[in-house]
Amino acid sequence: MSETEIRRVFVANRGEIAVRIVRACKALGLQSVVGFSAADRDSLAVRMADRAVCLGPAPSSASYLKVDTLVAAALGTGCQAVHPGYGFLSERSQFARACVDAGLAFIGPTAEAIDRMGDKINAIAEAKRVGVPVVPGKERLESVAELVEAAGEMGYPCLLKATAGGGGRGMRVVRSASEAASAFSSAQAEALAAFGNGTLYLEKYIEEARHIEIQVLADHHGNVCHLYERDCSVQRRHQKLIEESPSPALDAKTRAEMTQAALALARSVGYRNAGTVEFVYDVRAKRFYFLEMNTRVQVEHPVTEAVTGIDIVREQILIAMGRPLSFTQGDVRLQGHAIECRINAEDAWKDFRPSPGTVTRWQPPADDGVRLDTHVFEGYRVPPYYDSMVAKAIAHAPDREAAIEKMTGFLRGFRVAGIATTIPFQLKVIGHPRFADGTVTTTWVEKQLMPELGPQPTP
Ligand code: ADP
Ligand code: ADP
Ligand code: MG
Repeated sequence: MSETEIRRVFVANRGEIAVRIVRACKALGLQSVVGFSAADRDSLAVRMADRAVCLGPAPSSASYLKVDTLVAAALGTGCQAVHPGYGFLSERSQFARACVDAGLAFIGPTAEAIDRMGDKINAIAEAKRVGVPVVPGKERLESVAELVEAAGEMGYPCLLKATAGGGGRGMRVVRSASEAASAFSSAQAEALAAFGNGTLYLEKYIEEARHIEIQVLADHHGNVCHLYERDCSVQRRHQKLIEESPSPALDAKTRAEMTQAALALARSVGYRNAGTVEFVYDVRAKRFYFLEMNTRVQVEHPVTEAVTGIDIVREQILIAMGRPLSFTQGDVRLQGHAIECRINAEDAWKDFRPSPGTVTRWQPPADDGVRLDTHVFEGYRVPPYYDSMVAKAIAHAPDREAAIEKMTGFLRGFRVAGIATTIPFQLKVIGHPRFADGTVTTTWVEKQLMPELGPQPTP
């Protein structure tokens, strides 16, 4: 592919990732334009970008999800490329196609690759085709009767999942035939509300599971590389809370098999740009299975940046320009251990109730070498309309124990007022002996940690 000239990038996102992309543009000497909703007029990304344009009112359906408005805003501000970030339109092939049709480079994979990997049933078929192990299961279920029949054959427990799924939504564990009807209707309703698509499929439910994913980067010159794994087993309601690299659960042989599986899959769909192949690792059977591919940059990409020294967002932009990857597979080495804690504006002691409002104090400890990706500043008002994540803290140290220690010191010294955050909860997680062991599985937070959480610590 010949080089594509990019001088100005349109950022089709908000929050910390918009800030992250604006910074990556600045570092490359590129201009950036942020599209914002009326609720984000005073945001950090808007302040930092060279230009900003209002997309519409606060609800994302009227702003961040409006394909035509975003494309018109990018063209109208003289941009040559669009970075979709994560969430919102980042995995909608329709958006990638609309950008390209308008002559804008989409900083991500092609619309065709998104189509092939976006629908989970398609992605599973692709994985099977290239010999990547998938969770035993049944494709597409039309009714409760089909669910009961399939589950009967496969054996309980099963997991009902949405083909359009994301963020852990539209998923229900089914432990017996008596639970089938209510699980089916609630999963379907949740998937319809969240994705406008209520199609469900069934997988064997793996009770003792770790979530392990492989980061890949691919350019337009045939180079497809992996940046090893992230372990995201600390979850609540199938949503990640803490991510780390390398995984404390993998031996060298399994790591090699998983990275090769991810590369095979990326190659088979002609993947370009950054993507993540997610696997569930069955701790008892010591086997891994393909879950899905996320065709975008991920929230937890900084842990990989920390251990590999590779700037993933920078590579994404350079790839879109038609440049080759700035490294080869042989250059990629893991150094030390990195842990990321997601900091959400939520009260963990009140069932993780969102806590929007004005941040009256925001003082991370200075100079301790922990990376903080955030869009928050003192006086910032966390709007109630969007995801509640307000920051990500990333600690990198020579080994896992030192990384935990560094994160603990950082979170303990972090002073926030005006909103509730998950900082005190994250301190409970990383201070727990099971987390120190590196043996937690995906249900540990709900099954063990929450029941023994105790009263809210006083700051
Ligand atoms: P470096 O200069 O070594 O890259 P930075 O302090 O710029 O280190 O942090 C690296 C990343 O962390 C940035 O790309 C940015 O996304 C994020 N980051 C750091 N501090 C902030 C902040 N106050 N607000 C938003 N993002 C931040
Ligand atoms: P999403 O699109 O919501 O991210 P995933 O398929 O990636 O959906 O699954 C999200 C999480 O749900 C996983 O990280 C894992 O914890 C859990 N999960 C998914 N499938 C299974 C399964 N078959 N058995 C056990 N846990 C699973
Ligand atoms: Mg997933």
